[in-house]
Amino acid sequence: MTEKTLHIVGGGMAGSEAAWQAANMGIKVVLHEMRPETGTFAHQTGNFGEMVCSNSFRSDDSEQNAVGLLHWEMRAANGLIMQTADQHRLPAGGALAVDREPFAEAVTAALKSHPNISTDYGEIAELPSEGMWIFATGPLTSPALGEAIAKETGTDRLAFFDAIAPIVYAESIDMDVAWLQSRYDKGETEEEQKAYLNCPMTKDQYEAFIDALLAADKTEFHEGETAGYFDGCLPIEVMAERGRETLRHGPMKPIGLTNAHRPEEKAYAVVQLRRDNKLGTLYNIVGFQTKMKYGAQAEVFKMIPGLENASFARLGGIHRNTFLNSPTLLDDQMRLKSRPNIRFAGQVTGVEGYVESAAMGLLAGRLAAAELSGRDMGPPPGSTAMGALIHHITGGAEAKTFQPMNVNFGLFPPLDGIRGGRKGRKERYKGYTDRAKEDFSQWLEGQS
Ligand SMILES: Cc1cc2nc3c(=O)[nH]c(=O)nc-3n(C[C@H](O)[C@H](O)[C@H](O)COP(=O)(O)OP(=O)(O)OC[C@H]3O[C@@H](n4cnc5c(N)ncnc54)[C@H](O)[C@@H]3O)c2cc1C
Repeated sequence: MTEKTLHIVGGGMAGSEAAWQAANMGIKVVLHEMRPETGTFAHQTGNFGEMVCSNSFRSDDSEQNAVGLLHWEMRAANGLIMQTADQHRLPAGGALAVDREPFAEAVTAALKSHPNISTDYGEIAELPSEGMWIFATGPLTSPALGEAIAKETGTDRLAFFDAIAPIVYAESIDMDVAWLQSRYDKGETEEEQKAYLNCPMTKDQYEAFIDALLAADKTEFHEGETAGYFDGCLPIEVMAERGRETLRHGPMKPIGLTNAHRPEEKAYAVVQLRRDNKLGTLYNIVGFQTKMKYGAQAEVFKMIPGLENASFARLGGIHRNTFLNSPTLLDDQMRLKSRPNIRFAGQVTGVEGYVESAAMGLLAGRLAAAELSGRDMGPPPGSTAMGALIHHITGGAEAKTFQPMNVNFGLFPPLDGIRGGRKGRKERYKGYTDRAKEDFSQWLEGQS
């Protein structure tokens, strides 16, 4: 092993992009991949960059959509996943959909023919103490490696399932209905006493809500996905199936709360939302992890008083998903604080989605290559899509309730002088994306 070799484990979205970026910066890369010898329940081939489910990289609109902006930044940084997607694009309206097999074959061919990249097939089941490594082993990290990671981080800091409650943009919540209060006004400071946002329900509203939950379309678990799932993350619709009153005695209990707008009225049930980021732009609905289909979720959750016009930064879900508590474990270079020779990248760092995973691979590859070359490189500023994501996972997110995150404008620092609310949305998003493009270009220039 030479000093300048970078080892990357996992040839998925993140590992493939990391290898490409580091190799293009003149670093020798060994890409380790366990497939096809050892498979996962979702992958079908031995190719790098395999899309395990949908064939879409979502919106390609870089002016009005945060994922589209991430595409733009990855193209600007000569990203392999984006340039290969562009070559194998299928008609899909404003979305970037691809012909998945030729796409993965082309990613594989590009990596295998790169003079700085060699491949090594086989499972890596330990965290090495020497050399520089990036682990990009994804949501389906092999069980043996998962154990080794948990041994290093502590079992409470590595999750094997996500239990994602929907996340709402704060600005879309009707504060004439909702109010801020922690149960029993608990907390030392005023901020703590007002840490939750509460949405009250009458008996009729509660009954209608339970009916809608029970009737909603649900998604099924994949075969082999469910082992170990039922520990403390029951979907709300499963709780509702256990009894119509279960939720009213669980996450929707009304006790210890007084409606600030109508103190004389006792709510029959209360839905609570908790701040999800330091900026205070996002709130998650407490205890509302769900397997309802996305369309059904939007309909059902808008029945909650105060959320009638809610915009969702992400909808809920429960999946097999190995991910780190990155806000406590990783530094802003994506290095494991306890073992700085190891970086993590991709979905295992607590981002969610092909594009976000590839973007975190792009950053990890560049940051590792810079470190191996003895150059200082920081992550892009938080005003860019990549920067907003890395800042969120390595610090901005609430560590205690950390769950995987999609890129969205709620992660961006607010812009001065631009209208809030729905009416100003188009102008605001354009403001975010213009600022991001300028700042990202400057960050890239600083590296050349
Ligand atoms: C079932 C499922 C469906 C999904 N559907 C979508 C979707 O439709 N759209 C979307 O945007 N996102 C989806 N995701 C989420 C996620 O974005 C993708 O999983 C994405 O591929 C993550 O990229 P990654 O590089 O982090 O992981 P992966 O692409 O999974 O790559 C990880 C690689 O590491 C390898 N590996 C694992 N352990 C080891 C080991 N010990 N040694 C060597 N190699 C190892 C794996 O074989 C794999 O090739 C889905 C996830 C799952 C699990």
